Amino acid sequence: MEFDCLKCGLCCWVHKEQDCYAEVTQRELKRLGSWGKRNVKVFNVLELISPMTATLESDMVGAIKSESREIQAGPVKGYTVLLCAALEGSPMHSVKCKIYKKRPSSCKTSVKRGDAACRKLREGFLTGVAKLDQG
Ligand code: SF4
Ligand code: SF4
Repeated sequence: MEFDCLKCGLCCWVHKEQDCYAEVTQRELKRLGSWGKRNVKVFNVLELISPMTATLESDMVGAIKSESREIQAGPVKGYTVLLCAALEGSPMHSVKCKIYKKRPSSCKTSVKRGDAACRKLREGFLTGVAKLDQG
């Protein structure tokens, strides 16, 4: 199995109905500047407080919004899917992260090229596409 992230983007595809995806810290939000202001959903502080400890559970302050888009090319051309707002292009065809150098640490740690999570996404995709082909 080839693991070329620029021809993949499956870990930037939002698989559940959710309005935001990759979590960002305060420092990462600042680094994203005006793009971050437009494209990061800032969490309500109450959502971050643990009721058990009355402390903030993490240093995450928000997450990059997700966007519903019709795919223009590749094996899911013509389908409308939910993607991270920073992803350009068509999954499993040709993709690019618009903020690659400033992407949050959550992107770097949650899935790594060729790791178990990455393989699971890729295998799941191939199974899903095979079902689509069967009609
Ligand atoms: S890390 Fe894996 S799932 Fe994510 S874009 Fe790269 S190859 Fe695809
Ligand atoms: S910020 Fe970039 S690397 Fe992270 S999920 Fe979005 S498109 Fe993918």
